Amino acid sequence: MVVIKNLVKEYNTGHGKVTALKGINLRVREGEIFGIIGPSGAGKSTLIRTINLLEKPTSGEIYINGVRLTSLKGKTLRKKRQKIGMIFQHFNLLNSRTVRGNISFPLEIAGVPAVEREERVERLMELVGLGDRADHYPSQLSGGQKQRVGIARALANNPDLLLSDEATSSLDPESTESILNLLSRIREEMNLTIILITHEMEVIKQICDRVAVIEGGKIIEEGKVIDVFASP
Ligand code: ADP
Ligand code: ADP
Repeated sequence: MVVIKNLVKEYNTGHGKVTALKGINLRVREGEIFGIIGPSGAGKSTLIRTINLLEKPTSGEIYINGVRLTSLKGKTLRKKRQKIGMIFQHFNLLNSRTVRGNISFPLEIAGVPAVEREERVERLMELVGLGDRADHYPSQLSGGQKQRVGIARALANNPDLLLSDEATSSLDPESTESILNLLSRIREEMNLTIILITHEMEVIKQICDRVAVIEGGKIIEEGKVIDVFASP
């Protein structure tokens, strides 16, 4: 479903070149929760931003359902970007908009007609358990509730793929647990493919099927979670 081939990303800085990704190869299956774990500076954000079409790779290819992302331009690129949902460590909600308004936002951008938009927003609020918070602003929500809004917003355009960038890193253990449970449930219900990056092994152990360990811009290990993190 997601195929990454020889992905290289170089940044030009004032002090020369930094190679953030040094030839990444990955295959993520449909309906799988795939974890990418590694220390700070390993290249995790660069990888996820490249899959999300926010960064252009220096070389290499990314395919989603057989479509080569690296060759897309203009309108097709924007359309494809709408089919990749993303959730963030700091939620990235609009403070001036309510829960309903935040979830509606990507639908407005995609030009979904108002009636259908409202229907979808209602359904998404129910899905993530925020039906009774529709008119609250982000400042009136807990961290866990904010991330539920983030998840609903990411799902609004029925994405092919959900990317999670340290989505539980600023949550307390209880909220982390409930967000991970929500992601598992959504995966089951929608057969959604999820790529999740984290620096926390517990997150990987709790919900991922397979994991890749990234270090210095390279995948140094990959496999089923139970094989990569063998019990002592
Ligand atoms: P991680 O998410 O695992 O912490 P990053 O992808 O943020 O890793 O960073 C990987 C490497 O690329 C680091 O050496 C980082 O300093 C460098 N890097 C990331 N973004 C940029 C950028 N915009 N410009 C220059 N170097 C960058
Ligand atoms: P704003 O101040 O930006 O209008 P709101 O959260 O009140 O903030 O509304 C933002 C967007 O939410 C509106 O543009 C509209 O598309 C959508 N919206 C408003 N009411 C509803 C509703 N009942 N159901 C679904 N979406 C709604």
